[in-house]
Amino acid sequence: MSQRVTIEQLADWLKARDEIALIGHVFPDGDATGSTLALWHALKAMGKQAVVCLPGGKPSLYDWLPGADSIFDTEEGTLPFVPNTAMSVDVSERGRLGEGGMKLFDSCPFQGVLDHHKTNEGFGQLYAVDGDAAAVAELVVDLIDALGVQMDEKMAECLFVAISTDCGNFSFSNTRPHTFQAAARCVEAGADVSRITEDLYRTRSLGRTKLLGVVLAGLEISQDGKVAWSRLTDDLLQFCGANQEDSEGIINYLIEMIGVQVAVLAMERKEGTKLSLRAKAPFNVARDVAVPLGGGGHDCAAGVTLKMPLEDALKKTLAVIRKALEK
Ligand code: 5GP
Ligand code: MN
Repeated sequence: MSQRVTIEQLADWLKARDEIALIGHVFPDGDATGSTLALWHALKAMGKQAVVCLPGGKPSLYDWLPGADSIFDTEEGTLPFVPNTAMSVDVSERGRLGEGGMKLFDSCPFQGVLDHHKTNEGFGQLYAVDGDAAAVAELVVDLIDALGVQMDEKMAECLFVAISTDCGNFSFSNTRPHTFQAAARCVEAGADVSRITEDLYRTRSLGRTKLLGVVLAGLEISQDGKVAWSRLTDDLLQFCGANQEDSEGIINYLIEMIGVQVAVLAMERKEGTKLSLRAKAPFNVARDVAVPLGGGGHDCAAGVTLKMPLEDALKKTLAVIRKALEK
């Protein structure tokens, strides 16, 4: 049984630990990458041995973050030391650590969890979860304080990226006063808002730009205009010279359409089909679509991976959405 703890209790536990592996979720996003890196910088400042491990290694979208070159891939290679403590960060359930991440997590006698997904029921020995936090990075700011570490410029940049990307640059409904307070702390500690947001939101590769066009061109919409979906196949990726990470953010264009209440982007993956889901409140896409299908996430942004071909997975998901809309 894992024990629910406060940030302060998690900090006390971490203070007594060393040789720590910080593990993020599969297809690491800005929050998973920035939060693990910030905590890594903090633990190093405390004189501890730590390593950031992400499934697939350093994500190309965030390879410019301070410390990104030191990220290890949970799926391959050996770590510089054998960790005895695993800290899962931004991971809503054990399975989201990926195969290598789960193995690494399980190999550690000490296991902690820090997360902000409402659907997280806790795993490992102890877990601190605040489902109201817009990004787990909000909680990392508190954790760094509780550890007694002074936030430096590197931590600040990583944390600002993590917070900004998980709340739609302070525009999603998850944005709360504490989100701004945490971001303000980052700016005070030296995060360059103009440069960071340019890198995040006003810079994209040719492949990513082409992919946006192609995915939007393939858009379909239900007769009543409430559900929009599109597909992202390996062929399309190849055609655009893009990679899977380049799909991040495209689904927002679907949910932003007038009248659309639920949006789906179905993506081919080697393990089956990943479905990215978005909703406009009050539709709860985590509770009513992702969770019944075996996935999870947040009220308005959730996802699931189904072990079936893309068309089957899409059909199944659209049927669940239709039922939920009729409720
Ligand atoms: P995205 O669509 O951006 O990949 O994911 C949105 C949110 O849905 C993420 O924050 C994550 O919590 C959740 N999510 C995405 N994919 C999966 C999945 O395969 N399984 C689970 N449990 N949650 C997912
Ligand atoms: Mn997150």
